This record gives sequence, C-alpha cells and structure tokens, in this order.
Amino acid sequence: MTAPTDLTLAEARAALAAKRISAKELVEAHLAAIEKLKDLNAFITVTPERALADAAAADARIAKGEARPLDGIPLAIKDLFCTTGIRSTAASRILGNFVPPYESTVSAKLWAAGAVCLGKTNLDEFAMGSSNTTSAFGNVVNPWRRRGDNRDLVPGGSSGGSAAAVAARLCLGATATDTGGSIRQPAAFTGTVGIKPTYGRCSRWGIVAFASSLDQAGPIARTVRDAAILLREMSGHDPKDSTSADVAVPDFEAALGQGVKGLRIGVPKEYRLDGMAPEIEALWQQGIAWLKDAGATIHDISLPHTRYALPTYYIVAPAEASSNLARYDGVRYGLRVEEGGDLDDLYEATRGAGFGAEVRRRILIGTYVLSAGYYDAYYLKAQKVRALIQRDFDEAYKIVDAILTPATPSSAFAIGEKQDDPVTMYLNDVFTVPANLAGLPGISVPAGLDASGLPLGLQVLGRAFDEETVFRVAAAIEAAAGFDALPQLRAA
Ligand code: GLN
Repeated sequence: MTAPTDLTLAEARAALAAKRISAKELVEAHLAAIEKLKDLNAFITVTPERALADAAAADARIAKGEARPLDGIPLAIKDLFCTTGIRSTAASRILGNFVPPYESTVSAKLWAAGAVCLGKTNLDEFAMGSSNTTSAFGNVVNPWRRRGDNRDLVPGGSSGGSAAAVAARLCLGATATDTGGSIRQPAAFTGTVGIKPTYGRCSRWGIVAFASSLDQAGPIARTVRDAAILLREMSGHDPKDSTSADVAVPDFEAALGQGVKGLRIGVPKEYRLDGMAPEIEALWQQGIAWLKDAGATIHDISLPHTRYALPTYYIVAPAEASSNLARYDGVRYGLRVEEGGDLDDLYEATRGAGFGAEVRRRILIGTYVLSAGYYDAYYLKAQKVRALIQRDFDEAYKIVDAILTPATPSSAFAIGEKQDDPVTMYLNDVFTVPANLAGLPGISVPAGLDASGLPLGLQVLGRAFDEETVFRVAAAIEAAAGFDALPQLRAA
C-alpha cells in the first residue's frame, strides 16, 4: 500500500471516504514525517495536539456519514496567516511572540471544511524575498538536490516553507501568498503546483499585509487537481475585505476534465529574455508542443510593457509595504523595545531590533518613492505604467484564452548564491510580477528537470476570474509532462 504521506490530497480524500485510512492515521504519518525532516526547517510552529484533535473530529464526522469536503486532510498554513491561539510570526522578530485573537478568513474556511492543522510554515520575513533566506527563523532547505552535489538549495520564496513541506510530503497541501511570485516561484523550485488566483478571489482578511494591492492567497499542492480542490475551499466573498470580489466560486475540479481542445494559447515574445538559459527556452517550446498536441492553437502575442514590470513592482510593492509596516510600532503589536527616551525612541528601538535587513531595505525604498518631491517621479509614474501593463493583458485576451510562459528564469539555487546584491535576487520575479500588477490568475506546473536534475515549472496565466481555463491548461501540461521525479529528501 502507498505510504499515507505519498497519497495525493484527492487520493487521501478517497481513502478516507472508503474508510481505508482514518484521519488519525493520516495525521500521525504526517507528524512523524515533520519530525523526521525537521532539518528542512519548513515549519516555524508545529501543532500536534491541535492536529490530533482536528483529526478526531474529522473521524467522528466521517463515521456519522457527515464528511465535509476536506475532512481529515492534513494541511500546513504559511505563517503569514493569523491563526487564533497559534503564534503567527510573518517570520519576523517583530511578531516573534504574536498570538492572534482571530483567524484569517482563508484558514477559517479550510477548518470549516474539515481540514487538519499541522502547523505554520516558514517564509521570507513579511513575505519579502525569493529564497526563504530572510526569515528570522532561519532559512528553509529545498528537499531537492543537484545531481552529484550535496549543497543545500533554496526552496524559493517567500512561501518556501509551504513549498518544501508539500514537496517533502510533510503535508498534503499548504496555503501560501503571492505578491510578486511567492506561490509560483517556490512551486517551480520544488516540483509542486502553485496557483495565485485572481486578485479578490480569496479574502486577505487576517493575512499579514505586505503590499495590499498585490497580495493574494492561494494553495501549493502536489497535483493540479489538489490545487483545484484547495482553491475552491479557500475562495469566496468576504465582507471583511473590501477588495474581496463578490463573484461565484466555480467547482474548479470539475473544469479539469474539459481538456484544451480549441483553446487559444498566447506565447508572449517579450518573455524571451536576452541570455535566457537554453533549457528554459527548450522547456517553453516543449510546453507549446504539448498544448498543440492536446488540441489547443498557439498564437504569438505581444505584451509590450513587460520590461517595465519588474521596476514597477519594486516601486509599488515597497511603497505599500512601507505604509503597511508602519503599524509595528511597539505599542499595538508584537515586540516592544524600551531603552528610555520618548515615543520616537521607542519606535526606533523596536523597529530597529524587530525588522531584518531586507524588510528595512523595502521600508527605506518605499518611504523614498512616496516622499514629497519623489512621489510623482516614482510612485505615480509606476502606477501609470501598471495601468499600461494591465492594458497589455486586456488586449492579449481579446486574441487568446490563456498565456504560456516559463515560471522562473532558473531552477533552484544554492543557499548563498545570488546574494551579493539585491537586484540579482529581484530578477527571479521577472516572469511572475506582471500577473500581480494586473491582478490576473497564474499557476506554476512542474514540467521537467534541468541538466542537474532539478525541477522546472511552466506558468499559465488567464483572464480575471477565469481560473477554470488556467486549471484546464495546467492539467494538460501535467498530463503530457508526466512529471514523476521525486525529491531526494522526503518522508517514507
Ligand atoms: N520575491 C518577491 C519580493 O521579494 C515576491 C514576494 C512575494 O510574492 N511575496 O517581493
């Protein structure tokens, strides 16, 4: 029999329904896996008592024939989501001991659907990063290794703990958030599936804010089907988030069977970067061929403002972050460092001790681009360019139904690589940030291995609130790729 930790979420759901396994057995296997692989540092907090209590409740409902959609499914929650009574840190010293008195809407929905809480996963501090090396709780190790090279690799970021936990089989799925790629890039680096839905699809209420006009929650899972199952339960209108969209949530899983026959797939020429690794280009061509074989038609398209997306993002995101992070003042939340003096001294001492280097860098950039004299030149200009990037997509979606691109410009890198200057790190997000700026859905699907045996992802972008098409295209890629490589470090 397959080890419980090797089941997909859909398989576990079927096994639970058929009573071939209990929620208790499933959760115990995952807790043992978390313990066995604790050196990955994927979790900041593990909640075994809570997990066992959730599993007992799920088993009782299943026994009574009252199973809920996710009853008994062990999940991990990115530590950016507030969870009642469970420390929620955003991987920052400033929230290191913060225990929220409330639950994020997304996690509340998952618990209401019967899911089991295994704990909170590690991330880049305040979700700022692409390598999970900015966490105040230490970096996360990617369960994958390069062939013939034993160095630890990064899992991507900022949702590196969630991605590593899913890849290493420490949970059946995890929540994540994506402001500029933090779901899709770590999914690509760990051979998992990650979808950032349309802005407004999932409530942001109770999620620690990074850049509010860009932040979106979504799932990381091992298959496209599992991601579809999770996204449905995470989505929906929430009156507590004024940007949450009051639109119906489709049965994303049902869309998977529809295939891609007749779909028009766009291939944007601007995503073909100078000096792009030949294996990334080859993977992209392979994806095009797979979709053609599955009955889609391929169209060359242009998204002319793509080259401005990264600089625009690195103005808008820090600007919003500098404003959002003003609330950590030593008075209302988390850490308080008093060294005498007046209120300004309290702020300085608390924020100086509480924020790491990358967060401080973002606050400085954000404050600068918003300051009098620079606002028009940087922030306002960036907002205008953002509108042009959105318009590029509007034009493209008159011609095509979905867009295919690589997910990342490289595979996972070693811890310490790309760290000499921040801009090298920011380049990781070149393919992912346009979807955040335009508010559009995007998924990363594992599509192959690079020459050193590491996973690479393809990205599918769709129209606003058309995650169904995104899932259909992703399912076609998944089926054609037959990606069955396994990370070297994993449970069972
Ligand atoms: N890597 C990007 C950044 O550092 C994106 C992070 C994210 O999506 N949360 O801002």
